This record gives sequence, structure tokens and C-alpha cells, in this order.
Amino acid sequence: MTNNIANEMNKDVQSANFIHNIIDKDLAEGVYDNVHTRFPPEPNGYLHIGHAKSICLNFGTAKKYKGLCNLRFDDTNPIKEDIEYIESIKKDVKWLGFDWEDRMFYASDYFEKLYDCAVQLIKKGKAYVCDLTAEEIRQYRGTLTEVGKESPYRNRSVEENLDLFTRMRNGEFNDGTRVLRAKIDMASPNINMRDPVIYRISHTHHHRTGDEWCIYPMYDYAHPISDALEDITHSICTLEFEDHRPLYDWVLQELEFENPPKQIEFARLDLTYTVMSKRKLRKLVEEKYVDGWDDPRMPTISGLRRRGYTPEAIKDFCDKIGVAKRISTVDIQLLEHCIREDLKMKKARMMAVLKPLKVVITNYPEGQIEYMNAENNQENPEMGSRKIPFSREIYIEQDDFMENPPKKFFRLFPGNEVRLMNAYFVKCEEVVKDEKTGEIIELRCTYDPETKSGSGFTGRKVKGTIHWVSAAHAVKAEVRLYDHLFLEENEDSEATLMDGMNLNPKSLEVLESYVEPALAEAAAEEKFQFVRNGYFCVDSKDHTVDRPVFNRVVSLKSSYKPE
Ligand code: ATP
Ligand code: MG
Repeated sequence: MTNNIANEMNKDVQSANFIHNIIDKDLAEGVYDNVHTRFPPEPNGYLHIGHAKSICLNFGTAKKYKGLCNLRFDDTNPIKEDIEYIESIKKDVKWLGFDWEDRMFYASDYFEKLYDCAVQLIKKGKAYVCDLTAEEIRQYRGTLTEVGKESPYRNRSVEENLDLFTRMRNGEFNDGTRVLRAKIDMASPNINMRDPVIYRISHTHHHRTGDEWCIYPMYDYAHPISDALEDITHSICTLEFEDHRPLYDWVLQELEFENPPKQIEFARLDLTYTVMSKRKLRKLVEEKYVDGWDDPRMPTISGLRRRGYTPEAIKDFCDKIGVAKRISTVDIQLLEHCIREDLKMKKARMMAVLKPLKVVITNYPEGQIEYMNAENNQENPEMGSRKIPFSREIYIEQDDFMENPPKKFFRLFPGNEVRLMNAYFVKCEEVVKDEKTGEIIELRCTYDPETKSGSGFTGRKVKGTIHWVSAAHAVKAEVRLYDHLFLEENEDSEATLMDGMNLNPKSLEVLESYVEPALAEAAAEEKFQFVRNGYFCVDSKDHTVDRPVFNRVVSLKSSYKPE
């Protein structure tokens, strides 16, 4: 088997990493005899590229060990959650190419069991109802250097706790008046172990359980139990939960789960010029800095899809960045490198003139049309060829002409000859300007009929080759060029985001362009290379046959050299 095929087959499987070493050991020692992971998004926003890392890791690890991976919506916080998010998350995970089969769960499925578990803890003397206010609880908690103080309600009797907890559930108390706390250790060096809150009162409608509950479990309590109920073996999460692991283990141990799951933390993905917190992304959407969650500048999966990223490129990226314990920020150019690599051999190379300048070829017969042969992808002959109409009037890029060029400019200037890609040599004879503004509005050129592409002409050479489209045949299109949404490489500042200060005012440039006629039939999400200009994707929202819209996925070159 060639390396390439092996790579193809392993696309959905993560490269070996420290988590796999732990799993290997667990399997060898018989701690577990299978591997069962889960991806547990909170449905309070759209998934982003950081989640893709977690999805690839969880589903990829399950696949590697012929195990299972569940999709679980962590919907324990009813205030921020929404059905729209659930649907988008399902769509994005599927689009990435992963399958939870019949194992889609909701933490809210377990509300009754979670309640029973809390009752069990109370009966064991391991949980109590506390009447301190949120502020008092914070004060009593102590600090990193100072131990906490026990709540005056800590030693309530089991009977009283059971009674109060039942009444909390029955809705007898107002929001914030009481909580259920785990009874662990107020002097623990780990603040998470200082009698953490495990249930709160919140008279809030839940998108799935309606008004059935007015108490909701906290994440640190609900998560380990949900994992255990689903027979998860390895509960993979990001590094900020490392200090919560003793609590994770405590909950499972006190509830006497057999063969409990194991939490393993890894470093979350951070990208340059990108914010990754859902709260900030939501703000960008809600305050209309961007055109929705799927704005092509967003780091969301749906934004990347609309921009023109493929699941293959995203998975390749996740594989290349690897999985580690150490926090690091990944250069966004690595992501761009991955999509270039994916599209390079697969996509047709078309001609599109982004910033058009009209050229009249004065010695070319009026009304004549020739169909020039163009290879679809010079690096991949299997992609065949197509015919492109050529005629007397064409468009070229404004940038490909200079009236007073510097020394090493080999493209068009007065008196100079260049090759029109797949067509003829043309020579610039005259520059036509707007009388009032002086702006260059047209070039007059001559062509040499001997130099037709494919004719084997060897008479002379020219240094520049430029692309073009036939004016009479080209299709007008809207082309959108993107740059980073943020100006700062390490964008994480709260304050700047609040008033949009750090947003890049040039993150979107809209052009009126001309594309070759074959592109008029392109379908939404179809991708192409536009020669010399980059990779482009048909916009899935705004594109119509009458008004084609293309998003630039990425330019052709970058300065970035991956090892
Ligand atoms: P945010 O802070 O953006 O709101 P979150 O961690 O609250 O993210 P969840 O919906 O809870 O978002 O995340 C689901 C899973 O994805 C979790 O296991 C979480 O650890 C993981 N995850 C979230 N962000 C990243 C990231 N940047 N890199 C890797 N994994 C991530
Ligand atoms: Mg979370």
C-alpha cells in the first residue's frame, strides 16, 4: 500500500498522541477492555475549529481503537441554549464525516437520575442544602493562600437536607435562595473541592424538559455522572478542567460507580488572529459585526464551510497540530496551508479577472470567436481540458498593466509583449485614458496570429504570462476577498472586542469581477482555483445564476513553511 492510500484511509484517525499512550496502557493492564469516548458540546453557540479538534480527537480515538463515540448535548444550563444550535452542531459533526450512529444523548435525559444521585449523596452525608447567598459562598470559599470557612448549614441532618432538597425540586423556593453542595473539604488546597455547589434553583424553561424542573445540576456534577451512565471510558476535555478532575473522581467514587470513566485533559486549540470563545463569537453575530455564524470570516465550522474549507483540510489540520498538554497558539497559516494542499490537485483552474481592465486587440477580426484549449489542471492531466472563448475585446487584471513599470515588471506596459494564457502573444500599443480623470480605461493591443497557444511557436519568448476573459462572453460576478477578522495576532482582549476596536476594517473586500462563462453554472459550495488569484468557493447563501458570488478561500501562496 502506498503512503498516500494509507494516509487517505487514516484521515479520520488521529496520529498517535499522549492520550493514546494512556489508553494503550489502560487496555494492556485491563483497566478497560474497550474504548468509549464522547463529544459533549453545550448547545449555546455554533461549533468552531477548536471543537473540530475535540471532535477529531474523540471520534478519531474511538475509531482507532474500534470503539464508540457518543454525541452528547451538555444542556444543563437552560438559559443560554437553543434548538438552532443543536441542529447546527449535528450538521457540522456529520459534515466533518463523523457518525454517532444511534448514540445521540442529552444531559437533560439524565435529570431524574442526577436527582436520584444527589439524594444518594445526601443520604450518605455527602451533600447538604446551603442557605448562604452566592456572595457569601464566594467569601466563605477562601483563596489560594487561605483555607475556606465552613458554612453554618454544613451540618444539617440528613432528614432536613432530604426535606429541603425535595422542596427545592418542588419549587417552594426562589432562585438563588438555596443550593445543594457536595460536602468535601473546606480546607482543601484545591478550591474546586471546597464544598462545590452541585444544584442550583432556577425557575427557567428548558428547551427539552420544559417546566418540569426548577433545579438544575452544575456541570462538574452532571458531567462525570453522564459519562458513567453512558459507559464512557475516557472523558477527554480541555486543560482548564484539570483542577476539576479531583471533583470528577470524587463524584464517581462517592456514587460507587463500577469501573468509572477517566478524565484526560489536553490543550485547547488557539489560532492567531482568531477568537475562539463562543461568548465572543456570539457577540460578533448578535451585534452584526459579521453576517451570521456562517460568515466566511468566522472560525466556526459553518463559516469555514461557507468560505470553502473542506472536511479533509480541517481533519488534516487537526492531525498536523497534534494533541498535547502544553498550551500553544497555532499559526492560522497552517490551516490555510491545509486547504491549499487539499484543493491543489482536485480543483479546476479557471480564469477570472478580479479587477478588470479592458483590452481591445485592434488587429483581431471583429466578430470572430475562437475556442482556445485550456487544461483544467496542469498538475493533474486526468482532469481533462475545456474550451475558452477568445475574441477581440478581453479583460485583464488592472495590476497586470503599468504605464511606467519598475525594472523587473514583465507584464504589460506600453511597447511590451506578453503571453495571454492559453491564447496569443499581445503587445501594448496604446493607453486610453479618461479625459477628465486621467484614469486608464482601456488598452489597445495587437496580437501575433503565429503565437497561438499549442501551435508549437518558438519564434521568440516573452517573460510575462497573464490571464484574461473574453469581454463578450465573460460573466459578471461578485468576488469577496477576506482577511483576518482581527488585527491583533493574539486577539483575546475583552475591552477591545466590546467596542469592535480591534476588528480589521479590511477583513472583507467586495469586487465586481468577470469570470469565464463556464463558471456561471457552478453550484453552491463548488470550489475552483482562479489562476494566479487563489482558491474560490461559490457562496452558499447569496449566489444566484444571475449574480454569481465567489468567496476567496485562500490565496495561492503564503510565506509559511510547515516543517
Ligand atoms: P467556549 O469556551 O468556546 O464556549 P466550551 O468549552 O464551553 O467552549 P463546549 O460546547 O463545552 O464549549 O465544548 C465541547 C467540547 O469541545 C469540550 O469537550 C471542549 O473541551 C471542547 N473544546 C472547546 N473549545 C475547544 C478548543 N478551542 N480546542 C479544543 N477543544 C475545545
Ligand atoms: Mg463548556
